Amino acid sequence: MTKQDSVKPTNFIHQIIEQDLENNVHGGQVITRFPPEPNGYLHIGHAKSICLNFGTALKYGGQCHLRFDDTNPEKESQEYIDSIVNDVRWLGFQWAGDIRYTSDYFQQLYDWAVFLIKEGKAYVDDLNAEQMREYRGTLTEPGKNSPYRERSVEENLALFEQMKEGTRPEGSCVLRAKIDMASPNINLRDPVIYRIRHAHHHQSGDDWKVYPSYDFAHGQSDAIEQITHSICTLEFEDHRPLYEWLINNLPVPSQPKQYEFSRLELNYTITSKRKLKQLVDEKHVDGWNDPRMPTISGLRRRGYTPASIRNFCDMIGVTRSNGIVDMAMLESAIRDDLDANAPRAMCVTRPLKVTITNFAEGEEEWFELPAHPKNDSMGSRRVSFGRNLLIEQEDFEEVAPRKWKRLAAGEAVRLRGAYVIRCEEVIKNDAGEIIELKCTYDPATKGVNPEGYKANGVIHWVNADNSVPCEVRLYDRLFTEANPEGDKSRSFLDFINPESLVVLTGCRAEPGLVDVKPEQNFQFERMGYFCVDQNSTPENLIFNRTVTLRDSWAKIQKG
Ligand code: ATP
Ligand code: MG
Repeated sequence: MTKQDSVKPTNFIHQIIEQDLENNVHGGQVITRFPPEPNGYLHIGHAKSICLNFGTALKYGGQCHLRFDDTNPEKESQEYIDSIVNDVRWLGFQWAGDIRYTSDYFQQLYDWAVFLIKEGKAYVDDLNAEQMREYRGTLTEPGKNSPYRERSVEENLALFEQMKEGTRPEGSCVLRAKIDMASPNINLRDPVIYRIRHAHHHQSGDDWKVYPSYDFAHGQSDAIEQITHSICTLEFEDHRPLYEWLINNLPVPSQPKQYEFSRLELNYTITSKRKLKQLVDEKHVDGWNDPRMPTISGLRRRGYTPASIRNFCDMIGVTRSNGIVDMAMLESAIRDDLDANAPRAMCVTRPLKVTITNFAEGEEEWFELPAHPKNDSMGSRRVSFGRNLLIEQEDFEEVAPRKWKRLAAGEAVRLRGAYVIRCEEVIKNDAGEIIELKCTYDPATKGVNPEGYKANGVIHWVNADNSVPCEVRLYDRLFTEANPEGDKSRSFLDFINPESLVVLTGCRAEPGLVDVKPEQNFQFERMGYFCVDQNSTPENLIFNRTVTLRDSWAKIQKG
């Protein structure tokens, strides 16, 4: 699917909401939430969920909450919280009210666990993890009741109290909902709802020695916040009966409903937080925001704009069928944005010296070029022509190949926006490498070709005397394989693209780029789209390649 498709991508959630609104199901309200666990940085898959949850609230005049699902203190941290807050904002969304935390509800959740015990619907189980697995049964066989299942309400209350007070060691027992060990749905076979963790929590400190499970915390937090449509990914479909059982068996203040959609999977990358963390921890990449990472902060550093990511999420739609989206689609979303909005500039990445022998030493001539070929409102930029120029090494061949549109010995080429030059002499070093071209320029070709004039093509260039030195980082896809997790006998690390980062130093950009700011985007003519790296300074200017001008991978795949 491309953006040219005229059919609007489907969003079945919106269809459900429109029906609910028609039938006044939640009193005409739409309240959604985005509930990340702060155990890593957000990635492009989360962007889909963010656009869906926040976008849906915006579309229907509702609200969307940002709630940290923080029930695993050991794996979570303030750094992750801060990065998530930043990323959601950067994508252009604002949550309703304060940032919320599941940990805000720990007391209420605990009280509801006690409520279940009192109702005879929860019990403390001393089986260890391995025994519990044995008792749980399988997809084809029912489970068996734990020998602790029939403990009295009083005993359960006392034991749960001890768990809470920290007098029971970690792992010695858990609290389980008493549902049905023979249920065909394994999630209903007396799921664990509380476990002991003697851990420091980034929000609640050392207050708690017991922590609710995801299943126990999630739906009840939704109910506390009066969420109407609790939208999650398909792997939670089998948890829905438990979600509903808890909502139905607890005195919760509202009746949220869970809906599942298919997660975003993109080829040539991975979206498992665990594996992304491994890439960072083992230093295969330069941190969570390495421009090759599919994290939102990585895409941002790579030069993706919030609008391009939102557009991409619109294009892929929201369905219940799993599929893998082509990376080329994400790349085309940023290309479309930058094609329309990025100013043009010239940058020579692998310079070859060109001396214009008929142009006076010490003189220069300035040309005014449009910042954008199709958008005059973006203004203009100035480039300077002189005796000492630089062109791209790959734009010269001594003997022109067939259909060569660049410079060759004895031939002419137009320098973008300036003059046509002709190569009169090729200078080589002792090793036979070309180190300089002696050329002449034709004053009659200023700006445009005179009638009947024929030059091979147009190439980019800069003036060696006043261009800006810079470093250019050519980023490419992180993996060489469309499905780096596809071969179970090998590690995804084996498929890291060794050319996913090529650093070029000694590059030269046109003079106006001397005072650029981090995150500014450019099209370097003929070279691709680039952005100023977040660590770039005027003394140490760094440009990151966001994406090439055209999809070069499609060609590679077709062979
Ligand atoms: P974890 O294994 O740590 O739970 P997770 O990817 O589910 O990882 P969460 O922080 O729980 O991460 O995700 C927050 C929200 O983003 C959830 O509602 C989740 O369903 C959604 N989400 C996560 N990954 C994707 C994805 N690839 N596509 C769409 N939504 C996603
Ligand atoms: Mg999750």
